[in-house]
Amino acid sequence: MRRIQKIIAMLLCIFAGTASGADWFEALKASDDDRALYAVLAAMPKGADLHNHNSGSIYPEWWLANALASEARGYRYYTKVRINNCRPFDRRDDTYHLLFRNIDQFDYDALDTCERGEYVALRSLTDEQRAGWLSSIKLDQDSEGREEFFQKHWQRLNALLFNPYIREQNLALNLQALASEGAIHAEIMVAVLGAREADGTRITPQQMIDRFRARLLERDIIETGMTVRLQLTLLRFVGDAEDDLRNLYRLAAKNSDLIAAVNLVGREDNDKGHPRRFLPTLRELRQQYDVGLAIHAGEVDEPNDHVRDTLLLGASRIGHGLNLITDDEVMLLMRNGPYLVEINLISNLLLEYVVDYSQHPFPEYLRTDIPVALSTDDRGMWDSTLTDEFFVAVREFNLNWREVKQLHINSLTYAFVDDDVKQRLIDRHTQQMREFEAKIQRDGLENPERLPDTRTFICARYQLCD
Ligand SMILES: [Zn+2]
Repeated sequence: MRRIQKIIAMLLCIFAGTASGADWFEALKASDDDRALYAVLAAMPKGADLHNHNSGSIYPEWWLANALASEARGYRYYTKVRINNCRPFDRRDDTYHLLFRNIDQFDYDALDTCERGEYVALRSLTDEQRAGWLSSIKLDQDSEGREEFFQKHWQRLNALLFNPYIREQNLALNLQALASEGAIHAEIMVAVLGAREADGTRITPQQMIDRFRARLLERDIIETGMTVRLQLTLLRFVGDAEDDLRNLYRLAAKNSDLIAAVNLVGREDNDKGHPRRFLPTLRELRQQYDVGLAIHAGEVDEPNDHVRDTLLLGASRIGHGLNLITDDEVMLLMRNGPYLVEINLISNLLLEYVVDYSQHPFPEYLRTDIPVALSTDDRGMWDSTLTDEFFVAVREFNLNWREVKQLHINSLTYAFVDDDVKQRLIDRHTQQMREFEAKIQRDGLENPERLPDTRTFICARYQLCD
């Protein structure tokens, strides 16, 4: 290992000051030292994470800590650790057999004695139960994929999703983590519907937005130096999604200082949420309101018109865009265009939209000048990081340094912020990157033997862990 590090240091020296910065990166890749490459990408200044679901971006241990901390505010949670077959067959719903489903005190009090015996207080988990609980909301087994994520993770989180204090704390931790990786801007998708106080009092969507706003003004967030915008998420396939869309659109317009956009989420292979469904409602809303739209589209296995239809809806950013590759005309339309595709490499692999990275359209988009940026989607459930996304991109698609830098600039150029804020962000990042390049060419890595702390995904797939 030390010998390889020495070679890298030597190569970095040879190329120092001789070229545009691309040569040292090529030398680094050619060294085949993934640890050194990872360390460079971890230390690299980053732009924005534009596609980040607040609740999906929270690592399991953060969920648990926030749930327990909220007990001081009167919340109390229980989780299912055994099935005692308490319900007659005709009264069992899909979630009855789900272990580690979390319920609040109200739900618990409503159970009979038999069913209460299936739950333990979240505070009283044994070590084994705790390990099971933490594993239950991340994709850490080979057998787990799309069904586990869409049909079990959220159903397990259940009551925890509606706690406004947890939502605020999640946002804070999410932003701090991105800042610690060098990001300077984030657009976080948040839920504002359905929140409840510990005594059951309903919190209105406007109150939830006000609470997010207040949390973002606290010192620990200000100190991250991040700029932040929120996106309101609409579950696209539910029966009254049009009414939700109207409400969220009005809320976004009214809170335009903080809410940058509305985003349609939820699995696209549920036909009830197809994009064209929302065209009349959006046209009606555009009569009165100016609101940004970033919409999940093309996150499906089959070729279809979802990306095209989503552009017609008025979206300026496409989340995932996997099957855009199947639509020649829209590919042509997107080249050098005003729309960006938010690429989520780890998500797409773990949710089985690609079997391996040779199937992923990202390099085709990138190298035919379709604007793209890398983002993390639900990194808490992949147990991964923003750095991991860059590592995967460089390792799997042999990105050169110019391309890496372009991804950061794209993430800021296509951010939903005013032009003056955008320019400040780009200037700040450009300066940080210039300093980073100069330093790494002059001194090499500060501590090349030390791999930064890594999480499960990158450890299991690329053996990047100590
Ligand atoms: Zn997403």
